[in-house]
Amino acid sequence: MTPARSHAPSADRGSQGSGAAIDRAPRLLASHDAESLTAALEAHGTASAARSVAAKVLRHVFREDATTWDDDTLRALDVGGWARPFLLTMDVAPSLEIADQVPSADDTVRLLLRARDGALVEAVLIPGPARTTLCVSSQVGCARACTFCETGRLGLARQLSAGEIVDQVRIARRIWRSAGGDPALSNLVFMGMGEPFDNLAEVLRATRLLTDGRAFGLAPSRVTVSTVGVIDKLPAFFAGTRAELAVSLNAPDDRRRAAIMPIGARFPLAALREALDRTLPAGRRVLFEYVLFEGFNDAPEDANLVAEYIRGLRCRVNVIPSNPGPDPSLRPPSPDRIDAFVARLSACGVTTLVRRPRGRDVGGACGQLAGARRLAVLR
Ligand code: SF4
Repeated sequence: MTPARSHAPSADRGSQGSGAAIDRAPRLLASHDAESLTAALEAHGTASAARSVAAKVLRHVFREDATTWDDDTLRALDVGGWARPFLLTMDVAPSLEIADQVPSADDTVRLLLRARDGALVEAVLIPGPARTTLCVSSQVGCARACTFCETGRLGLARQLSAGEIVDQVRIARRIWRSAGGDPALSNLVFMGMGEPFDNLAEVLRATRLLTDGRAFGLAPSRVTVSTVGVIDKLPAFFAGTRAELAVSLNAPDDRRRAAIMPIGARFPLAALREALDRTLPAGRRVLFEYVLFEGFNDAPEDANLVAEYIRGLRCRVNVIPSNPGPDPSLRPPSPDRIDAFVARLSACGVTTLVRRPRGRDVGGACGQLAGARRLAVLR
């Protein structure tokens, strides 16, 4: 089922803010995970009482989707008087509002969300027969400047707080439920605006809340965090979450990779491979994403190079035909060429899946999220 389009433009919301995540983020309940909320409550009561109250509060707000509370609500939750004054200083309302909601022909829904300082980010709800996935943003804009990506053209305006990341999920889940959406939202990919590893502390905090059984209860195996390969953050990522790792590869050699992904000049492919070999914990694997561009990286010989590069690593490859983006010279290959590339990878023993574009007609597909530039459409 597809929610109807709606939007609520505002005349004075163009500011993108600046610097780090907004100051008031710690007051947002959604910016706390169970551990940090318990620690904050311990300043007012015993450790065991703090743990118990934190669990009740997370369940009430995130499982039962409460957006307001008062003293009576907290009493009804059996929260003691020692904790209520502190909790009532916390903000449980979503930190984002819907600025635009655009369903695509394939049932994907692109959400343009406005933060309280006017910053705009996008999230994309992707229903499927077996699962419903939400693609979330981790930053307002992005500093990584990949040439095929609309977000990369924006530059980085600011980081999102953990609460603003979590609230993308809260809002999308509510939209999906109220539309009678089926299957339920169960999968999450950090593949929206921003490079998650450039905001890793907030991404990890959000991930802890999203995978907490008392809050959203998503399985860690159904949460995927995608990076362009910020390799010095890999140890912190693996130590901080059981979520899946995706790495954008997109070219079979350094020259071509650096031409479309500036990170390739800082961390060559050999360094990326060495870091993955060194840090990937036992039992975990890597998802490589490989966006195909006609005549650039789509030759069967390129598939051989990719297979050689990943040989011996626990991994699989998602091949993604490119979407229209900022560089008109980067186009998707023909279906035959895509098939030949995938067939060559598979023949080399690589587990390969083609990820067909979703939401392309509403600018919601991979590489198309543009945040602030949507304002031009709204006004
Ligand atoms: S592809 Fe990802 S890392 Fe690259 S510019 Fe776009 S959002 Fe940033």
